[in-house]
Amino acid sequence: MFTPYKHEPFTDFTIEANKQELLTAIKQVEANLGGHYPLVINGERVETDDTISSYNPANKQELIGTTGKATKAHAEQAIEAASTAFESWRTVAPAERANILVRAAAIVRRRKHEFTALLIKEAGKPWKEADADTAEGIDFMEYYARQMVELAEGKSVHSREGELNRYIYTPTGVTVVISPWNFAFAIMAGTTVAPLVTGNTVLLKPASTTPVVAAKFVEVLEEAGVPKGVINFVPGSGSEVGDYLVEHPKTALITFTGSRDVGVRLYEKAAIVQAGQNHLKRVIVEMGGKDTVVVDNEADIDTAVEAIVISAFGFSGQKCSAGSRAVIHEDLYDEVVAKVVEKTEALTVGNPADATNYYMGPVIDQAAFDKITGYIEIGKSEGKLVAGGKSDDAEGYFIHPTVFADVDPKARIMQEEIFGPVLAISKASTFAEALEIANNTEYGLTGAVITNNRAKIEQAKQDFHVGNLYFNRNCTGAIVGYHPFGGFKMSGTDSKAGGPDYLTLHMQAKTISEMF
Ligand code: NAP
Repeated sequence: MFTPYKHEPFTDFTIEANKQELLTAIKQVEANLGGHYPLVINGERVETDDTISSYNPANKQELIGTTGKATKAHAEQAIEAASTAFESWRTVAPAERANILVRAAAIVRRRKHEFTALLIKEAGKPWKEADADTAEGIDFMEYYARQMVELAEGKSVHSREGELNRYIYTPTGVTVVISPWNFAFAIMAGTTVAPLVTGNTVLLKPASTTPVVAAKFVEVLEEAGVPKGVINFVPGSGSEVGDYLVEHPKTALITFTGSRDVGVRLYEKAAIVQAGQNHLKRVIVEMGGKDTVVVDNEADIDTAVEAIVISAFGFSGQKCSAGSRAVIHEDLYDEVVAKVVEKTEALTVGNPADATNYYMGPVIDQAAFDKITGYIEIGKSEGKLVAGGKSDDAEGYFIHPTVFADVDPKARIMQEEIFGPVLAISKASTFAEALEIANNTEYGLTGAVITNNRAKIEQAKQDFHVGNLYFNRNCTGAIVGYHPFGGFKMSGTDSKAGGPDYLTLHMQAKTISEMF
């Protein structure tokens, strides 16, 4: 029996010993940069002609490492390996599969600062964010292990006289996992271990900007006892091997986290039944957000300011849950905006590997830098620039936290996912109007409402159409097992990662009825 689940504690870096441990880990990771990580197919390291190079976004010249780059032929080999391995893995007792996850969690916990340091270097995460990313990955393993043990019993159904009925969950098959760079450890690990623990075999295709941390995790899974062929590591260009993996007739389940356009495309492609395919594919797609913090006129101002700034600028706004919009009641508007500007201007930006522990690091790559600075230019014609606006890509991709006030709710910077440190603020004259603005995007991932009025809280529970709704706090920072996470509308299939229903999405329920 496992101990009851509780989430992994975050590290307090104001404690000198913790700070020193992390700085030592950063030095160790730096001393080992530049390694090569081949594909892993059927337990074998497979070298490829082409490779993927991962660079530090805070220091563009610094190579983090290289990985193999899968072609369609490699993808085919990996699907065959996963398909063969499925026949034995599906019969392994759920408790044994759960044990492997707990062992993997223990390995990562022992090497926690090493993973955090790698995220600092490879994804440009500030300390707090990198530490939370590692902790969340551990949480997914611990939580899903316990969920699997519970689900192994099946769910109770009725039996009539002379009949024994059972309702159990069985594995689905070969699973393609396509993960994003922004939670390069947690989402990559969570979306990999969920299909594994439920008895499926996996092809993991991580984001091309952060493949090294994924390679390290595959090593952990092997060390924890995942058999050969059950986990296959196939980094590659999404646009080159993505379609092949998704369209393959032997692919049974696809779990994707990333942008709206790619997610929608995969969803459509997966729906087409290919020659030789004898099942319908299951698809989990979790996509973007344009998330709002609503501030009512009956709100605590400091709570509102804190919620807005943390939601907008944590990890430079590169979270699907980022509060990139604030809608503020006109009665408090000027005061809240002034305080948001003051707090934003106090945020520090710099290389996260430095001992300074900056609040914000770089954005992920040149394409992101160009896209975000492009939106800052658009913002200048759509609102009033009240903070930030500065950027510098000489050494790394640094963009200062930027705030636009007095923005029309239909403006592009209020509607489109920028995925960077850019906050747009609109004014509302009533609480109902504020909720209407909050709902006026095609996304529906997270939202926060700051109010002390109970009736308005109840109204928002009914009318604010988001998968994760928070009151009197920020709209980021969901914790596994506490705040199951997933979005409505064009934010995805609302799979609720880290929640009690998540694993069942990876399995097929089977009814067994026996007469005696
Ligand atoms: P992305 O560009 O869509 O990439 C995500 C993954 O899809 C990467 O592994 C990428 O591979 C792959 N990919 C790209 N094109 C593909 C194709 N044609 N076929 C198959 N796979 C393809 O997204 P991202 O920039 O990594 O991540 C940021 C986005 O993810 C944001 O929109 C954010 O809101 C969203 N997100 C959502 C959640 C959620 O839970 N809802 C959580 C985190 C992030 P390459 O790297 O090789 O291109």
